[in-house]
Amino acid sequence: HLFGAIRAAMPALDTPLASLIDGRVETYGDALALSARLVHLLVARGVKPGDRVAVQVEKSWPALALYLATVRAGGVYLPLNTAYTLNEVEYFLSDAEPTLFVCPPHMEADARALATRLGVPSIETLGADGTGSLMDGAANLPTDFADVPRGPEDLGGILYTSGTTGRAKGAMLSHDNLLSNALTLKDEWRFTGDDVLLHALPIFHTHGLFVASNIVLLAGAAMVFRAKFDPREALELMAAGKVTSLMGVPTFYTRLLDQPGLTSEATAKMRLFVSGSAPLLAETHRAFFERTGHAILERYGMTETGMNTSNPYDGDRIAGTVGFPLPGISLRVTDPESGRVLPTDDTGMIEVKGPNVFKGYWRMPEKTAAEFRDGFFITGDLGKIDARGYVHIVGRGKDLVITGGFNVYPKEVEGEIDAIPGVAESAVIGVPHPDFGEGVTAVVVKVAGASLTEADIHAALESRLAKFKQPKRVFFMPELPRNTMGKVQKNVLRDTYKDIFR
Ligand code: ATP
Ligand code: MG
Repeated sequence: HLFGAIRAAMPALDTPLASLIDGRVETYGDALALSARLVHLLVARGVKPGDRVAVQVEKSWPALALYLATVRAGGVYLPLNTAYTLNEVEYFLSDAEPTLFVCPPHMEADARALATRLGVPSIETLGADGTGSLMDGAANLPTDFADVPRGPEDLGGILYTSGTTGRAKGAMLSHDNLLSNALTLKDEWRFTGDDVLLHALPIFHTHGLFVASNIVLLAGAAMVFRAKFDPREALELMAAGKVTSLMGVPTFYTRLLDQPGLTSEATAKMRLFVSGSAPLLAETHRAFFERTGHAILERYGMTETGMNTSNPYDGDRIAGTVGFPLPGISLRVTDPESGRVLPTDDTGMIEVKGPNVFKGYWRMPEKTAAEFRDGFFITGDLGKIDARGYVHIVGRGKDLVITGGFNVYPKEVEGEIDAIPGVAESAVIGVPHPDFGEGVTAVVVKVAGASLTEADIHAALESRLAKFKQPKRVFFMPELPRNTMGKVQKNVLRDTYKDIFR
């Protein structure tokens, strides 16, 4: 299904698909041939339709081909964050029971021991430079393969959520989930065969794997494929007209803003800048527009659903909003307790329904059932829909602070703190408090050289926020803990400061 659509959309086989850091250019024909060789190896290793192929490797061209090979084999692709330790990988392998685990060559001995203990039948290795048993084993295998037919409801991937709010959960994604979302986004964001995407996101996460790669493939477009985002190289590529579009997490944009070379001339040949995976500060959106004349297009999605909303391609891309529900997707805001649908501008739980919504959490039927209400998936994100229909994300339900019976939305308090001169950024959390249940606590990062104290922050907020919203304590940190997708890890902060009011 998914690969059938990719195949049907494929341009001439000598069309470039991915240009790599070493200057090599891989074509669509190369993608077909390499993924065919890899499928033959997967099949020889016992991968049958429906089997999981777990992969924890550095981003590389063969790694992308391995994703395509798994789908062609009718398998279920299961990429893992390269930052996970062996101990964490153990949980994923025992949970997902893959037929094959692909790891970097240096991990082989440990991975073999683990695989033996957990009963994972096969291990292959793949290094960032393509070395290892996977590519060696596939080297002389046939370059064509009759793809295993799959139906829309069959699984194409299991992606574990980022684990920002707790233990990562395996989201089961069907071929139709992946295909419908990628086709919608390709159309909404006007991707065509003329596009060259700067692809510098990891491919173990929905953003880089399913949004970026599937859109490029289905548009017959090309990409500059990079393991890491380098803002200086990005600017050079943009200025030289070698890329037309960028998909990034918000930190890509703050890093670009740090480059003196970011100007409207340098970005004149760019068609589109997309941001997602974490909130883009309205201030970043404005600063980027002032410097370049480009309004970053912010969209909102998650592992379980792919993309749900997007700012418009034509029309106003409003800073601090994530735009409108995508075609075919319904989004509503409800009272978290009763499920009652709330009116315009009221903040509540965001729920979504559509062909993008996943088939449930892997082997967690109760958890899955608890996260649905009348066919709508309860995202866990709080937000509102304004009078023009734009969706605003206010924060995560789990980050809501309830202090003395009052709800405090961290984003509102963070906005006030961030406006204080000398503050670079902030995170507001609730930590256990003997009298109030939770005490509002702020963690602040100063701009270099600023001399702010806790008392300064308290004084600045005095007249800006109701007493119950004001942080009871303020702490300073050199930087906020973030995961690879640029998400602030509030659970880490809550843990660090859990005893301050005891
Ligand atoms: P876990 O579910 O394991 O706690 P996670 O929710 O961070 O981790 P992902 O599926 O990677 O895992 O992230 C989805 C979440 O990212 C969304 O629920 C939302 O909170 C946040 N997010 C994504 N895009 C945006 C955006 N444009 N603005 C604000 N938040 C966003
Ligand atoms: Mg989540």
